[in-house]
Amino acid sequence: MKSREHVIFKRSYRKKKRQNGSQIRMLFFLTCLLFLFVIVEKFSFLKSLIKPISIEKVFAVQEIKDSSFLLSPTLTPTPSVIPLFDTDSLTVATPTPRPKADQPLAETPTKQVLLNSGSQRDFCLNVPMLLYHHVQPLAEAKEQGHAQLTVDSGIFDEQMQYLVSNGYNTISSDQVVNALLAHHQLPAKSIVVTLDDGYDDAYNYSFPIAKKYNVNLDWMVPSGLLGNPGYMTWDQLKEAAGNSLIHIYNHSWSHAALGNVDTAKLDQEVMVSNQQLESSLGKKITLFTYPYGTFSETTIAYLKEHGFIGGISTINGTQQCESYIMTLHRTHIGNAPLSSYGF
Ligand SMILES: [Zn+2]
Repeated sequence: MKSREHVIFKRSYRKKKRQNGSQIRMLFFLTCLLFLFVIVEKFSFLKSLIKPISIEKVFAVQEIKDSSFLLSPTLTPTPSVIPLFDTDSLTVATPTPRPKADQPLAETPTKQVLLNSGSQRDFCLNVPMLLYHHVQPLAEAKEQGHAQLTVDSGIFDEQMQYLVSNGYNTISSDQVVNALLAHHQLPAKSIVVTLDDGYDDAYNYSFPIAKKYNVNLDWMVPSGLLGNPGYMTWDQLKEAAGNSLIHIYNHSWSHAALGNVDTAKLDQEVMVSNQQLESSLGKKITLFTYPYGTFSETTIAYLKEHGFIGGISTINGTQQCESYIMTLHRTHIGNAPLSSYGF
């Protein structure tokens, strides 16, 4: 009897021991799972912490391998063999989508809105800023090998006529920036027409058309390239700038990409150009247009530190906001009628 009870006791003891063992294993398993979960959570948390710090907004890096411009600010840099235009074809990550002529832009010009971006209220104005490079007869541009960057001067004439006859009000980039800063509305159907790179065809063709229709044009000029073949001369620039329809802005000194450069390079490309333009034109210049549309947080910080109040990019869009006043948006224009771009 005693031994039987003993056997029963022993059996139930072993059973309990097994149960305890499996409970411990289960507990261990659950602890491991929890530990793994914590590790995964921690890891993704760390990843989200690291991400915004490590990814600087460098949109493109396109160095011109020519250090001759470092020698003297008065030296005239030789135009690079790389065509000097602000399209996305040169760089991998440049945010310069081209509008398709058959895809009209959805936004209506002159619609002015206040947007809520998070807790901050952003002040925005719907002002298209049209982007041109060469304006000349297409046949001439073909001979010179830059037809893809050219709006035929006859078509440009029609486009400017279209703006005038459709009640558009051409204004300067300065007026857009000042309105954004002051939170002022702009006249209805305000629009900016910009021509980049200071080519001689801007002087030869767009300037007479501006006078013909009384439209304002903004010329974005790489000051160091003036006088080179294919570029306007300082005399031509001064003559045009003497007309109240033509507005001149800084587009660097040698048209170098400024997305990832040091302060010495920015001094040369931004400030030398500004000094040349200001002393030659006798007016203050506080807007900068990014060559190749490339910029970074460093470029923007440098510009702000040096008195610039606005920047003009090649990012596509017609809405201009105070929150991105240093990277205002533009619309690439080709040889299609302006109405096909949504204007
Ligand atoms: Zn350019």
